[in-house]
Amino acid sequence: MKSIGIVRKLDHAGRFVMPISLRRTLGLDKDGAVEIFVDGDTVMLRRYSPACVFCKSMDDVINFEDTIVCKACAQKLGKLAE
Ligand SMILES: [Zn+2]
Repeated sequence: MKSIGIVRKLDHAGRFVMPISLRRTLGLDKDGAVEIFVDGDTVMLRRYSPACVFCKSMDDVINFEDTIVCKACAQKLGKLAE
């Protein structure tokens, strides 16, 4: 992990603005989402891309009761339940 030399102050609500250049680099648009990770006193952000819990595919994913599943795996599960 390397520093990119940018420091941001948090506002009264704990928010900060991610620089536009960084958002563009990460492919984050105004409706994008980031996933937050913590390791000791280090906070890491990663562009959030929902992936299927079974096959890790990011194509045709659906959210079923707070679990991300792709349609192909959902169909396989459906056949198991028949
Ligand atoms: Zn899947």
